[in-house]
Amino acid sequence: MTKNGILCVVNEKRVFLDPKKTDATGINFVSHAHSDHLPSKNGGTILSSLETNEIANLRGFKMENHIETLENFSLIDSGHILGSKGLLFDDIFYTGDICTRKRGFLQCAKIPKCKTLITECTFGLPEFVFPKTDKIQKQVNELISELYGKGIPVILMGYKLGKAQTITRLFGHWEPLYFHDSVKEMNSLHQKLGISLKDGIGHSEAEKNGLLDKKPWIMVAPLMSAKNKFIQDMKSKYGAITIGFSGWAQSSRFSFGRRTDYSITMSDHCDFNELVDLVIQSEAEQVYTIHGFVDEFAEYLKKIGINAQPLLENSLDDFI
Ligand SMILES: [Zn+2]
Ligand SMILES: [Zn+2]
Repeated sequence: MTKNGILCVVNEKRVFLDPKKTDATGINFVSHAHSDHLPSKNGGTILSSLETNEIANLRGFKMENHIETLENFSLIDSGHILGSKGLLFDDIFYTGDICTRKRGFLQCAKIPKCKTLITECTFGLPEFVFPKTDKIQKQVNELISELYGKGIPVILMGYKLGKAQTITRLFGHWEPLYFHDSVKEMNSLHQKLGISLKDGIGHSEAEKNGLLDKKPWIMVAPLMSAKNKFIQDMKSKYGAITIGFSGWAQSSRFSFGRRTDYSITMSDHCDFNELVDLVIQSEAEQVYTIHGFVDEFAEYLKKIGINAQPLLENSLDDFI
């Protein structure tokens, strides 16, 4: 682990995993297009999926020298967002951000066998157990139905890239369907990349044409604080109710629940049990944990007889 992300040296090749700045002479793997995984500067060769490259472009990151395939490197679906991949090379598997639970158009991640596993553990505490998607669908459809019965408009909120498209897929059958403009833009790119999502009108256009006055309606919007002007407007003008979707929703130690009227536990990451299953399936001899509860998750793995340790920043800086 270096200040610039994870570096693996394999047969004298330098492989950087989700580096902050790409390395001019190395191979730079970008697992997916969430901004904390995108490099801020170009240089060297960038290995990532076509979808990651396209979404990165939309977000203002121009990834030069981009390639989608490379001999001896396999990009493996990680089920986190559209185009997200893990990387298998030289018996090392790096998960990137990963989810092994099917949600809408996102399929479960594939877990290859490997000797060394580098896994994220965002939700690496036993208290994080997430419901299956069909249970969430049932619960949320009932809630929307109840609010619709009272003529109340509903705003479904989730992270703009990933969650918002899954929400659109799962609940886009409610009509009339509107989108926050930023979600509409991201959904359009997903449609262009072959994902079928229901169309809807952006919020500026809907408001301009007086469509929001005709209640109830449903809108998909990014996660915003209750203090955000957009949310305050939607509440004061139309009496809208907000439903937030996040993996943090169920946990009492985080304040997520207070941001929306209702909060639903839905995540684009593995929960604790899925992380443990993933590690077992990989049959890895050595596990390194990154992101989230790295110490706690590595401790747990050791207790069940798996060699594990957190990857700590700077621990390999001497080597570069
Ligand atoms: Zn991510
Ligand atoms: Zn991430």
